[in-house]
Amino acid sequence: MKKLIVLTIALVFGLTLLGGVGPFEQKAQAGKTTFVTIGTGGITGVYYPTGGAIAKMVNKKRKEYGIRATVESTGGSVFNINSIMSGDLEFGVAQSDRQFQAIQGIANWKDKGPQKDLRAVFSIHPETVDLIAAVDANINSIEDLKGKRINIGNVGSGYRKNAIDALTANGLDYNKDFNAESLKAAEAPGLIQDGRLDAAFYTVGHPSGYYKEATSGKRKVKFVPITNIESLLQKYPYYAKAVTRVTKHYPAAENDADVQTFGVKATFVTSVKVPDEVVYAITKEVFDNFEQFKKLHPAYEGLTKQNMLEGLSAPIHPGAMKYYKEVGLK
Ligand code: GLU
Repeated sequence: MKKLIVLTIALVFGLTLLGGVGPFEQKAQAGKTTFVTIGTGGITGVYYPTGGAIAKMVNKKRKEYGIRATVESTGGSVFNINSIMSGDLEFGVAQSDRQFQAIQGIANWKDKGPQKDLRAVFSIHPETVDLIAAVDANINSIEDLKGKRINIGNVGSGYRKNAIDALTANGLDYNKDFNAESLKAAEAPGLIQDGRLDAAFYTVGHPSGYYKEATSGKRKVKFVPITNIESLLQKYPYYAKAVTRVTKHYPAAENDADVQTFGVKATFVTSVKVPDEVVYAITKEVFDNFEQFKKLHPAYEGLTKQNMLEGLSAPIHPGAMKYYKEVGLK
């Protein structure tokens, strides 16, 4: 009898323990490595090296945390948010406007509704919405895109909606006013050089390999200013006026001045289901070694610890919040 009670207690206790912990904690308890994957963007963008920079910070302390972060090249912001929500990715980089739309259940999430499990970790570099065009295509404004062949972006990207917003604000409909392509960003520079695209939109931090590639070929390429955006700035809280520093970053472009446009921020997001200790460790390593992190990409030039907490619309993950409270950032 006594034996049976002991066995029952042991069983119940054991089951409770098992039932109370998720796959992450089980791995950690067993002293094994917790693998996390960070979704980024195309390899010529800034998300891809950003995922690499964040992974680098936490992987240095692999022994201490038992976390091994890896980076995946993806279709961009929308793909990353959806993959985090489905549990296929633990972390991702996403535009601040996309974070806002996902948490509100608008734009790409209109049918699915608010993505309640989405959590913000921190924001990163600024991104500008830009239009580049082959000089021989005679495109000097969005108006001139009529009848041309333009990349507005793949469906999983963040920038596709920025392109459509800029077009709409200028009275253009991508379904009928020109030949709209839905290509991944990485493909566009080569296609412009090959003469198969006249122009392309993209939203990215600077400098990026994308524009270096686009402007360094035989076919001359320039940045086209994006104007008539006042209605966008009024309507959407996440858009802000911006300038793309073309002359500084892309001297091979056929521009002799910087161009006006609008922009958003890159942000680092996760799911409420990712354990606090994992999010805490990543946040701590990036912020405790902030000067080192900043050196990992020139797009981080203007970052401060304070502005990395701006532009977030999803609730901050409790693991990140624990760190911000500890160091007095929140
Ligand atoms: N902002 C882009 C997007 O979400 C990605 C930019 C990048 O990869 O740096 O579509």
